Amino acid sequence: MTAPRVRFAPSPTGSLHVGGARTALYNWLFARRHGGAFILRIEDTDVERSRRELTDQILHAMRWLGLDWDEGPFFQSERGSLYREAADRLLAEDKAYRAFETPEELDAMKSAAKAIGSAFRYDGSARAIPREESDRRAASGEKFVLRLSIPNEPLVVNDAVQGRTEFPAGALDDFVLVRSDGRPLYHFTVCVDDVAMGITHVIRGVDHLPNAPKHVALFRALGAPAPVFAHLGMILGADGKKLSKRHGAAGVEEFQAQGVLPDALDNFLALLGWSPGDDKERMTLLEMVSLFSLERIGPSASRFDHEKLLWLNGQYLQEIPAARLVEMLKPFHLPNCDAVLLDRAIMLHRSRARTLVELAHALAIYGDDPRVFEPAGLKKFGGPEAAPLLRALAERLSVTEPFSHSTLEESGRALAAEKGRKLGDLAQPARLALTGVLASPPLFEMIEVLGKETTRRRLLAFADLIAREPEAH
Ligand code: GLU
Repeated sequence: MTAPRVRFAPSPTGSLHVGGARTALYNWLFARRHGGAFILRIEDTDVERSRRELTDQILHAMRWLGLDWDEGPFFQSERGSLYREAADRLLAEDKAYRAFETPEELDAMKSAAKAIGSAFRYDGSARAIPREESDRRAASGEKFVLRLSIPNEPLVVNDAVQGRTEFPAGALDDFVLVRSDGRPLYHFTVCVDDVAMGITHVIRGVDHLPNAPKHVALFRALGAPAPVFAHLGMILGADGKKLSKRHGAAGVEEFQAQGVLPDALDNFLALLGWSPGDDKERMTLLEMVSLFSLERIGPSASRFDHEKLLWLNGQYLQEIPAARLVEMLKPFHLPNCDAVLLDRAIMLHRSRARTLVELAHALAIYGDDPRVFEPAGLKKFGGPEAAPLLRALAERLSVTEPFSHSTLEESGRALAAEKGRKLGDLAQPARLALTGVLASPPLFEMIEVLGKETTRRRLLAFADLIAREPEAH
């Protein structure tokens, strides 16, 4: 294969969502796999709905995912002269024609079609207007649209993923390329740009498949070979409906805010429709580049399984060096504690966290001493009778050497036995005292990380609190 040229062509009418991100990723993987070019084109001809800040968000999300582009970003809003030249050329070559129907006339045609229960199709009547008359009417200021003159031949869409579809002659009407106010329409700008940019493969969502015959007709009119199409199956939510906001987070930035790692998201997105052929699931971007092929993309829809994304993310979290993890956790608010303690706390907690947010949340106990305590825990384990037990535990742990979780646990067990109690009678109030909540990682491992001084201070402060205010809870 000669080096392919592919493009990602988002419309900046929303931020980058799962579907768009997967399209971008597949184009990027394909370009990198074959040493081709990945081009970024911003389709912002819809001035009412396009926003510059959304473009910035899309670029930011792509950079975050590690999807660098080789050319662009090109903005369709800045390429008006290219579309005008292409329109003039099609007109001069009789591949497009001016149609002068007024909006009222078109409405009447639409009503007539509706009355007999059929969809409106422009009947091509303006094709018959002689060129001189067309030029004269345009020069006199009469309004017109430019329509593509579709030859009476079948159109074939060859799709590397969805297969071959043949559309019989007459399946399409002569659709509009340029509106009466001079604005070029979507299908036209896409194809003019794909030709100008030398695009060899169009990889995009299956929602664009119905547009493909129009594009095939346009490429033909523009005198260019049609690119290879690869339309990717839909992405569905857990309920089998098209993935949308209703299913919770679907935007790349939302996943970033949840503490999903870009590598994990790339890996997860890659598997929404593509598989490397064996059961391999965890792959770095580089591995995916070496394995990617259009042949291994399935035509059907895939399900977006949020739990699986979180699981995969948890797997990635385990492998990041602690120092790097500290950097990555910073935007999620790290506790105010010394660096060595933080590293140890991260090592202890990261196997239970699935996202950076969950991990940062778990680390909060290594910062300030808890001041609020879970009410249900207080009710169960905050009775005044726990106070002497906690004081005894504080004393015993303070003299335990070495201050490591296994010896600390032995001390705790011995103390419980001496008092004729179960370990849980000590451990549960201790957990509450140390963290404010009852869910925590293994108690003595946590105590080892918290250190002698903090453990003692928190146990004694809690003992004082429950001894002083038994009825407060
Ligand atoms: N701008 C279109 C979109 O955002 C993509 C068009 C294309 O890939 O051909 O859906």
